[in-house]
Amino acid sequence: MTLQTNEFWVGTYHGRHDGRLVKVTATRDDTRLEPYAWTCTCGASQTFPTEDGVDRTAWRHTHPTLWDRLRQKAALLLRTR
Ligand SMILES: [Zn+2]
Repeated sequence: MTLQTNEFWVGTYHGRHDGRLVKVTATRDDTRLEPYAWTCTCGASQTFPTEDGVDRTAWRHTHPTLWDRLRQKAALLLRTR
């Protein structure tokens, strides 16, 4: 992704979703309502009012636990029903 003028790079996280390589880029932009945010190459993104949680959730997103994967599958099943 390309950084905009107000954006500062905070961190990059590499990981996988079901074997597919993904990359999460975390940024800070003081002009945003919630300055901290991360975006994944899979399309997922999250915003935060402070730096708290950015690192943890970004890492977690790129390294899903078995439980996370099961929960995602369950969510998909519920949605297609
Ligand atoms: Zn992702």
